[in-house]
Formats: sequence, C-alpha cells, structure tokens
Amino acid sequence: MNPLLWPTASPPPIPLISPSAINTYMRCPRKLAFQRDPSLRNLSKPTLRSALGVAAHSLHEIAATNSPPPNQEFEGWLREEWERLLGEQSVRVAEAWPGRAVPPAGQWNGVVATRVRTLRTLAQSRASSPSARKSRTETGFPWIERRLEDLDTGIFGTPDRVDVRNGQLRVVDLKSGVYQAEMQPGQRLQLLLYAHLVDVACNQLPTVGVIKDARGIESTFQIDSVAVTRAIAVARQVMTQYNAAVALRDVPASPEAATCLNCPYRVVCEPYWSSEARSAGDLRGTVSHVESRSFAVDTGTSGAVRVVAAQGCAVPAIGDEVVVLDLLPAGSGTLRMRWNSDIRLPSEE
Ligand code: SF4
Repeated sequence: MNPLLWPTASPPPIPLISPSAINTYMRCPRKLAFQRDPSLRNLSKPTLRSALGVAAHSLHEIAATNSPPPNQEFEGWLREEWERLLGEQSVRVAEAWPGRAVPPAGQWNGVVATRVRTLRTLAQSRASSPSARKSRTETGFPWIERRLEDLDTGIFGTPDRVDVRNGQLRVVDLKSGVYQAEMQPGQRLQLLLYAHLVDVACNQLPTVGVIKDARGIESTFQIDSVAVTRAIAVARQVMTQYNAAVALRDVPASPEAATCLNCPYRVVCEPYWSSEARSAGDLRGTVSHVESRSFAVDTGTSGAVRVVAAQGCAVPAIGDEVVVLDLLPAGSGTLRMRWNSDIRLPSEE
C-alpha cells in the first residue's frame, strides 16, 4: 500500500488578527492553522458561491465609489459592470480548476437571483439617497472597504461600509447570498470589532451594527462600549491561544459535520476522517482496481466502491491510498466525482 501522509499545519504566528480569523478559530482552530500555512494555500479554491459573492461585493463597491460614464444611465452601467465582474470570476474559478469542466457562469446556482437582487438593491439605494455622494465629501463617510487596524489590541479588518443614517454612525456588513438567516453570534462579534476599529480611526464609536442581505433587507443591533470591550477581550484571548498552539505545533481540530461540510482542508485533515463529522459523500480507502476513467476504492468497512473520475482529474494507481470529496451516487456500488470534487493521491506529496 502507498499511504497518504497527514501534514501537520505549520503556519507562522499571528501578529494581527481579523474578525473572520477569530470566527474560523472559534469553529475549528485547525482550520485557521491550515488556512495560514503557506504550503497548503492551493487547497482553498474559489467555489461558485464564493465567486458570486465576490462579484456582488465588488459591484457594491463600484456603485459606491464610481459613476457611470457621461451619456450612460446608472442601471445600464451597473448591468455591464456585473457582466464584467462575473466574467472575471469565471476566469478565476477556471484557473483554480485546470482541466475540469467548469460550468459557464450563466448556469451557476443562484446567479440570476444574486444579479437581480444586487442590481435592484443598488438602484433603490441610489434612488433613496441621491445626495450620498455630496455627503461623502462633507463628512468623510461613507467609508467603503477601508482597511482599519489597531496595533495596541492587535486587531485589523475591512468593514464593507461605514455610513451615517438618520444621524447615527453605522458599521455595515454586506451579505451577498440570496438568503441571510437571523444575525449569527460571529457576525455580531465581527461588527463589534469593526466598530472598535472605526472608533480608533476617527474617535467616534458607531452606534448601530448592520447586516444587509442581497435583497437590501437590514438586520440591526445597537452597539455599546461594554459589548465592544468584551469583543476585544475575546479577540485577544483567541490570538493568545492560537499562537501558543502554533508554537507547540499542536493546533486542535474540532470536527463537526456542519463545520467540516465545506472545509477545503478535509483532504489533509486526519481528525476529520476518524470522526463522525465525515460526510457520506467523502471517501477514503485504498485503490484496488483501475480502468481508464474510473477506479475501485476498498474502504475497509463498506467494501469496494467504484468511483467515476471527473474530467481533467488524475486517476490513482492500484495500492494508492486516496481521499475523494463531494461524490454523488451513480448507481449500485458506484459514486461519481463532480466537476469540482477534490482528490488527494500519494504521488502529489
Ligand atoms: S475538516 Fe473539519 S476538523 Fe478538519 S480543519 Fe476542516 S473544519 Fe477543522
């Protein structure tokens, strides 16, 4: 047998921590360590969902910081910008999955809903605040994706927007997904830390935290200095614990089905494969038979399973230990790789 090796995450310590890194750590410290290990960076590839999110975010930024050329109306300009951004994301996904049959952008799940809702939200907010550009020059707000940091607490971040509404300073996080559930504790923590960073930057603590979804619907909460102080303490504690674990080269894993489901590091995460978090669509075993575009994997527990390989993916050799992710049922004793199913072979190490 040609076994897979299971790498120990070897990231550098964190000098400054962001709210998203804190949220990742709180769900699974090992995932943050994998994310920050330069040798594993290629495992985190864009998904169609994340690519759509980047395009929607970018369109918000463009609408807030640019204007259509003379002689072009706002909505038509935005539609053109959306197509351009989606094209860029399509290229980025194809580059991350060389040889794979990446679906055309027009067929991505949620593309129509994201486009319609993003364009509608931007047109509505333009109509409801025609003086936004004027107020920007007078007050300095809104800030759009401005990177902020506080070297004293070791926190940095880039809030999507900091704006003034009805005389209140707000920090806003845009969610590009077509459905935003109720505000999560991690999203609240993120907004509290952004509020602290705004306070450090301009000596004014925002009073409202906002999550705004792709439909333009806002979930808000009142920010107060006690909650901000608690959030800073959490951030400091996470950074201390993480850096201590990195120094010991022993960052713990927290395999949970919901956390691991979309984690790109499953292919290198041994604790995942020996936990109950393991998904029925993921397979680990030893290759016992190979054909031109399929191979059989002996899983040890449930016998041999035939796997139909995706276009552009390397086929393993007999005796290789393999892990394959996100497989679909394809008839009795057979699973099929999706276009973006990841596979790890001993020969790639
Ligand atoms: S697969 Fe699960 S346990 Fe492993 S790093 Fe990812 S989230 Fe953590």
